[in-house]
Formats: sequence, C-alpha cells, structure tokens
Amino acid sequence: MARKIPMRMCVGCREMKPKRDLLRVVRTPEDEITIDFTGKKSGRGAYVCEDEACLTRAIKQRQLERALERPVSEEIMAQLKRQIAYAAPKPSANE
Ligand SMILES: [Zn+2]
Repeated sequence: MARKIPMRMCVGCREMKPKRDLLRVVRTPEDEITIDFTGKKSGRGAYVCEDEACLTRAIKQRQLERALERPVSEEIMAQLKRQIAYAAPKPSANE
C-alpha cells in the first residue's frame, strides 16, 4: 500500500501538492508572519509552490493575506522570492 503523503493546497495555483514541495508561511500564535522552513511551527499556515509564477500570482491576488487573515510584509515577500530563486534547479553545464 502506498504511503500517505500529506497534501496541501498552493495559494497560487490552487493545486494540491505534497506538503514538502511547498513553502509554508505561518501566522504564529504571537501574531507574527514568518516563513516556516521546518513545517513544524504552530499557527495558521498558507502554502505556495516553490515556483515564481505561483508566488507572483499569490501576491497579486493577495492570497497569502487572505489565507493568513493578516497583511504580509514586503520583507516576507522578498524572503519568499529569494527562497524560490535559491531553490530553482540550476541548468547543468554538462547536459
Ligand atoms: Zn502553485
């Protein structure tokens, strides 16, 4: 039997994806918005693919704000963009 993979919905493309393939933004019980790299922080979470198109759409449509019910700072947006740029697979010179 296949192992159950936890799935979450990306706020950009609205598709269900394995949780580990998504970036998690969390509103902590202290009412702070932060990026949760461990996936273990408590609080209300919103998920977005590690994909620039999804993040751009999520920002444009204010889906992160909507999911978290709080404004999301420019700093968090910039951190997400950096994270996605860093995670993007680099084209290999040998292929
Ligand atoms: Zn997506």
